[in-house]
Amino acid sequence: MSKIASFPPIYNHVAQHASENLRRALPLINKHKTPINPVNYAVWYEYVSGDNQALIDAIDVHLNNGDAITADITQHMYEKYVLMGMPERIQKTNNGMKLIVDNTLSNINKAETKASACASDINNTQSLLENLSDVDELKNLIGEILQQTQTLASTSSDLKQELAQSSQDMLKLKSEMEAIKKTARTDGLTGLLNRGAFNQEIAVLCQQSEITVTLVMFDLDNFKKLNDTFGHLLGDKVLQYFSGIMKKHGGDTHLSARYGGEEMAMLLLNTSEEEAVKVANKIKDQLANSRLKKKNSDESIGQVTVSIGMSLMKATDTPNELIDRADQALYLSKANGRNQVSVF
Ligand code: GH3
Ligand code: MG
Ligand code: MG
Repeated sequence: MSKIASFPPIYNHVAQHASENLRRALPLINKHKTPINPVNYAVWYEYVSGDNQALIDAIDVHLNNGDAITADITQHMYEKYVLMGMPERIQKTNNGMKLIVDNTLSNINKAETKASACASDINNTQSLLENLSDVDELKNLIGEILQQTQTLASTSSDLKQELAQSSQDMLKLKSEMEAIKKTARTDGLTGLLNRGAFNQEIAVLCQQSEITVTLVMFDLDNFKKLNDTFGHLLGDKVLQYFSGIMKKHGGDTHLSARYGGEEMAMLLLNTSEEEAVKVANKIKDQLANSRLKKKNSDESIGQVTVSIGMSLMKATDTPNELIDRADQALYLSKANGRNQVSVF
C-alpha cells in the first residue's frame, strides 16, 4: 500500500517495501554528503517511495541542474513537502492570535485609564460647583464638564472601533485555522479526503449504529502500465479525472477519499445495497466510457478502467474488518478480469 502526502505524514508501506526504501534512500543521503538524521531520511525515503510527487518534482529540479542536495535544501523540502508547511502556518496563526489578544487587552487598559482620569476630573469639577456663586464661573465649569464628558465618550468610541477591528482580525484567523484543518484532511492531488481523514471517518462510523454504511474500494486497473506508457504526469491527470467522477456520484452525502496511490474509497451513508451497487457501477461505467486523450493532442490513451469491491458495515465491525472484506471483494473483481464490481 502506498502513501499519499498528508499532514501529519502517514506511512503504511509493508515491512518489505519499507526496507527496500531504506536500501535505496541511504546511498542517496551519503551521495549528497548529508548526515543520516530523521529530516534527511524522511525526504529521501519519500523520494524513493515514489508517492510524494510534489517532493519528487522539487528535488528533480535540483538534480537536473546538477546541484548537490545539501542539508539546507532537505530541511526546506522537509518543511514544505513532508510537513506541508504546517508548522509555519500554525506558528503564524498562533502569533496572530497572541497579537490580537495582547492588543485588545492593552486597548482596554488604555481606555480604562483614560476613563478613570475623566471620571476623577468630573468629580473634582462637581465639588467646585457646590461652592459657586458667580454665573460666569458657573458657565466655565459647565463648559469643562461638557468637555470632560466628550473626552469620555470619544474614549469609549475609540475602544469600540478597536474592538471591532480585533474581532475582524479574529475572523480572518478563524478562517485560516479552518483552511489549515481542511488542508490537513485533504489529498493534495485529488482534493478528496486523505488517508488520515478517511481513517478518522471510518472509525467514527464503526462506533455508531444509526447510519447504515457501505464501504466501496476502487483500484484503477493496470495503472503502472499507463504510467510507464504515457508518463507519471498523465497518470496524475487520470487520478484527478477519476476523482472528479467520484465527487460527482458521491456528492455531498457520501465520503470520498484517496486511500493511497491509485486506490480510492467511498463511504456510502444511509444507502441500500442495491443503490450502492448502482452508484459503484455508474462510476465504473463513466470511467470506462470516457475517451481520454493526451493533452493538446488527439492521441487516445486507450480505455482506462477501475475494479471495485464493496461491503456493508456490520454492527460489530472494526475499521480493519470492514476494509478487509471490501478488499477481498476488490481482489475478486481483479481476478475475474477487472473493470467490474463485486460485493462481499
Ligand atoms: P492492477 O490492475 O493489478 O491494480 O495493476 P496496477 O498496475 O494498477 O497495480 P500496481 O500496484 O502494480 O501499480 C500501481 C501503480 O500506481 C504504480 C504506481 O506508480 C502508480 N501510482 C501510485 N500513486 C500514483 C500517483 O500519485 N500518480 C501516478 N501517476 N501514479 C501513481
Ligand atoms: Mg493498487
Ligand atoms: Mg491498480
